[in-house]
Amino acid sequence: MKSEPFVYHSPVSVEEVVSLMNEHDHAELVAGNQSLAIQMNNRLATPDHLIDLNDVDDLAYLDERDGAIEIGAMTTHNTIAESDVIDRKLPILSEAARQIAGPSVRNVGTLGGGIGEADPAGNYPTVLTALDATITLTSESGDRSVGVDDFFIAYMMTEVGENEMITGATVPTDPFPIGRTGMSFLELKRVSHTWPKLSAAGIVRVDDPTASEPTVEEARLTFANASDTPLRVEAAESAIEGTSLTDDALDEAAGIAMDSADPADEMQAEAEYKEEQVGIFTERALREAYDRALDQ
Ligand SMILES: Cc1cc2nc3c(=O)[nH]c(=O)nc-3n(C[C@H](O)[C@H](O)[C@H](O)COP(=O)(O)OP(=O)(O)OC[C@H]3O[C@@H](n4cnc5c(N)ncnc54)[C@H](O)[C@@H]3O)c2cc1C
Repeated sequence: MKSEPFVYHSPVSVEEVVSLMNEHDHAELVAGNQSLAIQMNNRLATPDHLIDLNDVDDLAYLDERDGAIEIGAMTTHNTIAESDVIDRKLPILSEAARQIAGPSVRNVGTLGGGIGEADPAGNYPTVLTALDATITLTSESGDRSVGVDDFFIAYMMTEVGENEMITGATVPTDPFPIGRTGMSFLELKRVSHTWPKLSAAGIVRVDDPTASEPTVEEARLTFANASDTPLRVEAAESAIEGTSLTDDALDEAAGIAMDSADPADEMQAEAEYKEEQVGIFTERALREAYDRALDQ
């Protein structure tokens, strides 16, 4: 099937994008077009106007500033996967970008598209939730910042308002000092270029990696596809904080995470199976993050 006809627009600035959105009803933004094309060809999305973001240079950036990294909405998965600064300071983000689909999708798919689509199985929503990022939304009235916890509001629904666009994400780096922080992003999938059935993001910061039994100072644990929106399990994080990641603490965290999960049934992965995997992935992601925190 082919898409319904539409009028194509190719703005070169954010101002032009927001003004086009205001001018036209039933308009849709297009970034890498890796998801939207499928929806349009299946007539699940039938915009009258398509506003292409690919000529808006201001949206493709990656800036390190004091205590944070700022990433523009049109930054591709490949740029994130290959960035030295992200690999050094937020390695879980490069690890997540590297595992998205195959090279052709990673060459053109973008951060803004991944966040805007808000697929429950998406890599960025889950990792940005673990990293406690902030999303910048822009409209004709200016910019506003939304914490990631308030951004993903329901199944494939976000806080992006009508005539508003995602312009970037700000990810704090201060909570994750290099040398005593470990991060791990793990996916459960049958073949590499497909969507995962489940993913887990684990982050562990220890007090002193050279101690005989380093203590977990802070932990983060989130999942993709374990509920309709990214799932952060703070009670499981608390279960390992203050411990040296004993088996008992990990078991407790896994039990809490399994109780918190509310996955949907899907082909080749029933809800019960995914819940079981949440427990296994809790232990694997936190163990790997802890080991990486010590091994630097
Ligand atoms: C075979 C395959 C496997 C994949 N596997 C994975 C995977 O394992 N993990 C994963 O996370 N993703 C996966 N993806 C999705 C991939 O990451 C897409 O690139 C991404 O979800 C959409 O990004 P895009 O730039 O192509 O957005 P588009 O397809 O252009 O847009 C997607 C949606 O986001 C909206 N949008 C885009 N940019 C903005 C913006 N700046 N502001 C507001 N709304 C915006 C669009 O209007 C549209 O509704 C896969 C895709 C394919 C085709």
